[in-house]
Amino acid sequence: MGELWDLLRRFVPPYKKYLILNIVFNILSAILTLFSFAMIMPILEMLFQIKEGVYEYMTLADGNIRDVLINNFYYYTQEAIRMWGQSITLAVLGLVLVVATALKTGSAYLASYFIIPLRSGIVRDIRNHVYEKIVHLPIGFFTAERKGDVMARMSGDVAEIENSIMSSLDMAFKNPVMIITCLAMMIAMSWQLTVFVLLLLPIAGMAMGRVGRRLKRTSLELQQQWGGLMSNIEETLGGLRIIKAFNAENKVIGRFRRGTQSFFDLSNSVARRQSLAHPMSEFLGTITIAIVLWFGGTLIISGSSTITAPEFIYYLVIFYSIINPAKELSKAMYTIQKGLASMERVDKILSAVNPIADPQKPETISKLQGDVEYHNVTFGYNEHTPVVRNVNIRIRPGETVALVGQSGSGKSTLADLLPRFYDVNGGSITVDGIDVRDLRVHDLRSLMGNVNQEAILFNDTFYNNITFGVADATQEQVEQAAKIANAHDFIMASENGYQTNIGDRGCRLSGGQRQRISIARAILKNPPILILDEATSALDSESEMLVQQALERLMHNRTTLVIAHRLSTIKNATMICVLHEGQIVEQGTHDELMALDGYYTRLVAMQSMAGAPAS
Ligand code: ADP
Ligand code: MG
Repeated sequence: MGELWDLLRRFVPPYKKYLILNIVFNILSAILTLFSFAMIMPILEMLFQIKEGVYEYMTLADGNIRDVLINNFYYYTQEAIRMWGQSITLAVLGLVLVVATALKTGSAYLASYFIIPLRSGIVRDIRNHVYEKIVHLPIGFFTAERKGDVMARMSGDVAEIENSIMSSLDMAFKNPVMIITCLAMMIAMSWQLTVFVLLLLPIAGMAMGRVGRRLKRTSLELQQQWGGLMSNIEETLGGLRIIKAFNAENKVIGRFRRGTQSFFDLSNSVARRQSLAHPMSEFLGTITIAIVLWFGGTLIISGSSTITAPEFIYYLVIFYSIINPAKELSKAMYTIQKGLASMERVDKILSAVNPIADPQKPETISKLQGDVEYHNVTFGYNEHTPVVRNVNIRIRPGETVALVGQSGSGKSTLADLLPRFYDVNGGSITVDGIDVRDLRVHDLRSLMGNVNQEAILFNDTFYNNITFGVADATQEQVEQAAKIANAHDFIMASENGYQTNIGDRGCRLSGGQRQRISIARAILKNPPILILDEATSALDSESEMLVQQALERLMHNRTTLVIAHRLSTIKNATMICVLHEGQIVEQGTHDELMALDGYYTRLVAMQSMAGAPAS
C-alpha cells in the first residue's frame, strides 16, 4: 500500500480542500450511522419488554456523558410510552430512525460529491503530465514498436487508473473512517469482545492480501499485452496500403487474433481472481460473525458479560456494519492493486530521464554567424555499433554542404545530431565555436529550420501549419512566405484560402504541396541554419521543380546542410561530402569529385542508369 500512499502524496495536494470536506462528511455519516442504529436498542427492549426499571432524568453531574445520554434517551422513551402508548412511541422512534438515516445518507452523498473532483482531477493531471513528458522526451525514446505502447499507456493504463484506483478512492477514504468510528463504539461498549474481534480480523485480512498481490502481478502482464495489441493496431493503420497490396490481410488478422487470444486467457484469470474478492470476504466475514456470536452469546448467557442482550444486538449490528465497509475496503484494495500495476507503467514514462538536457551554465550566442562544424563525430543508436564514425564537416556561414551516399550510410543520422535529436558519442558539434551541448536546447533549435522527406503537417489550417513555429506572424508575412515557397497559388485556390483545414497530416494535399507548406513554414521561421533531408526525393519531377525553386530561395544566404537523393539538386553546393558506411570517403565540389572517379562518380552513374539525369 506504500505505492498508493506515494501516488496520493504526489497527486492529491492540489485537491486538499476536497479531501478534507470528504473526510468531514464521512465522519459525520459514520456518527449518524451509529446514532440511527442506536434506535434499535429501545425498540428491542420495548418489543421484548426486557427492562422493567424506571429511568430518572439525569444531568451531567450524575455521571459521564455516555451514561447520561443513554439514560436520558431511555427516560424520554419511557415518558413517551406513558403519554402516547407503546404503538405511537414505536412509530416516533421509527420516524427518528428515518430522519437520522436521511441525514446519514445525505452526508454520505456529500462525501462522495466532494471526492469526485479529486478523482477526475488526478486523472486529468496524470494525462497532462504524460503528454508533457512525451513532448519533452527525445525522439530516440519513441522507436516504432514503442509508439503503440506509449499510446496504450496513455489511453488504456490511464483509464485503468481511473477505473480502479480513482473509483476505489471513495471507498478507501470512506470505509476506514466508518470502521474506526464503529470500532471506537465497540470498544466503548465492550472492550473484551472487541479485543477478541480484533484478533480474528487480521487473520481474515491476511488471507485476502495474498490473493491481492498475485493480482497485481498478473495485471501488469495484462497491460503489457494490451500495449502489444495497440502497437499492432497502430502499425496496421500505418501500413494498411502495404497489407492490402501484398494480400497479407489474413496474415495480420491471424497475428492479431493470437494476440487477442492470449489477452483473453490472461484477462479471464485476472477477472476471476478479482471476483474471488467478494465471495471470499463474505465467507470470511460470516465466519467471523458466527464466532463472535458464539463468544458474546456465551458471555451473556453465563452472566459474566458487562453488556445486556439488546446492547449485544446493537454491538452485532455495528460489527456487521464494519463487515461491509471492510469488505468494500478489501475489494477496493484489490482493485487498487490492479490500478497500481497501470500506474507503474505510466510512471515508466513519467520517470524516464531525458538525456538531452539543458546545460548547467548555458552559453548564449549574441550575434550568430552560422558557422557549423562537426569534429570527429562518432555516434551509434546503441553503443556497440557506431552508425557514423570520425566525421569532420565544416559549413561556413552562408555556405551549403551536401551529404550524399547510399541509403543507410548515415546521412539522416548526421543531420539529426545537429539539433540534438541525439547526442554524439564521440567528438563534438559546434555552432560558431560553441558546443551544441553548451547551448540551451530551446535556443539551439530556434536557430534551425528543418525540411524533411516526409512533410510533417498537422490537422489544422494552412495558416496555422505555416505559423507553427512562430508566435506572432502577420497575414502578410505568412502570404509572403507562401509565395516564396510556391504555395500561395494553390492555397488561394482552396475553398477557404489560408483558413482551409488540410486534413489529417495534410492528406488532402499532394506530396509536392505538402512539401511546399513545410518550406513556407521554414521560410517564415527564418532560421540562420537549415537542414534539408531529402526534401525533394518523394516528389515527381514537376512538383520537384517547384519545390526545388522554393528551396533555393530558402537556402539563399543561410548555412545549409542538405541531404539529397537526386544528385542533380546539389550540384551547386559549396562542398559535397560522400558518406559510405558512416564515414566520409570523398569530399569536394561536383567537378572535383567527378575527376576523382570514385564513389561519387559511381553514384552519379547509377542514377543516370536509373533514369534520373545527373546533370
Ligand atoms: P540514411 O539517411 O543515409 O539513409 P540513416 O542515417 O537513416 O541513413 O541510417 C543509418 C543507419 O542507422 C542505418 O543502418 C539504420 O538502420 C540505422 N538507424 C537509423 N535510425 C535508427 C534508429 N532510430 N534506431 C536504430 N537504428 C537506426
Ligand atoms: Mg535518410
